[in-house]
Amino acid sequence: MKLSLVVPCYNEQDNIELFYEETVKAFKDVSFDYEFIFVNDGSRDNTLKKLKKLYNEKTESDITVVSFSRNFGKESAIYAGIKNCDGDYVSLIDADLQQRPEVVLEMMSILQNEPEYDCVAAYQGKRRESSVMTGFKSGFYKLINRLSEVELHADASDFRTFTRGVANAIIEMGEYHRFSKGIFSWIGFNTKYIPYEVQERNAGETKWSFSKLVRYAFEGISAFSTKPLKLATYIGITASFAAIVYLIVVIIQRLFFNVAVSGYATIVALILLLGGIQLFCIGIIGSYLAKTYIQSKNRPIYIAKEILKRDED
Ligand code: UDP
Ligand code: MG
Repeated sequence: MKLSLVVPCYNEQDNIELFYEETVKAFKDVSFDYEFIFVNDGSRDNTLKKLKKLYNEKTESDITVVSFSRNFGKESAIYAGIKNCDGDYVSLIDADLQQRPEVVLEMMSILQNEPEYDCVAAYQGKRRESSVMTGFKSGFYKLINRLSEVELHADASDFRTFTRGVANAIIEMGEYHRFSKGIFSWIGFNTKYIPYEVQERNAGETKWSFSKLVRYAFEGISAFSTKPLKLATYIGITASFAAIVYLIVVIIQRLFFNVAVSGYATIVALILLLGGIQLFCIGIIGSYLAKTYIQSKNRPIYIAKEILKRDED
């Protein structure tokens, strides 16, 4: 039995070695084989050098290094890692030691002792972020769960371990715009959620800014819901209904009460409001169209420049 550890790395030069050492330490008594699949996601620092050093020096470990031709994003790195591994179980874990390798052992023992589960996902038990951020995140999850057919667990991370069956299902999901939380939910299978405590980042800094997170949230919604496309219909029906009611009111006022209907300000406000709503809805349609356009080109999810893999013996 073999476990594959898929590790996406983007500018993690100061974490690679320690990550490797800590994992080997945590895994020293395990009864199964394990391999490392490091995916260098177009790092601009010495990450690739460090990975090559690890690959050349640690011949006792089963290490594969997939190196991208540029930065494709963590989602693509995860996909490449899963595609290039052959374990019976696969674990996704970050390189920065925020996610402890010991938790992977816990996940493995659940998968082995409770065969009704196909996947074990870790969620942040204790949060290490501002309450504003937590508020935004929980708002996003409420929204996406209402809008889409997938059910997302609010705190669940990408930190998870799953069976080969789940891995194969993920590989089948060949979409270009990848939102892994949605993908995990969409493919189904039984998932157990366990709490874990996020550690401080060992070195380097997070690649997530607030604006990136907001963009990611919208990506997630548009990847798994088409309801925003119907927004124009709903707003259109409401606005037309309001217009008809108002028209009737105006006619009655004019005919029966002889009220002179003035309303320059109202007209300006309404034109701006409706114009704004129309452009907003066109924008939404545009963003779906753009995704369809890109997907229709069938571009690869990543391009590997180099793959270092030990020969099977
Ligand atoms: N990562 C990646 N490509 C990217 C951004 C991040 O492969 O474009 C990797 C990164 O090296 C790390 C993991 O994804 O191993 C999580 O990134 P980060 O620590 O920045 O996210 P956070 O833990 O703050 O959510
Ligand atoms: Mg991190």
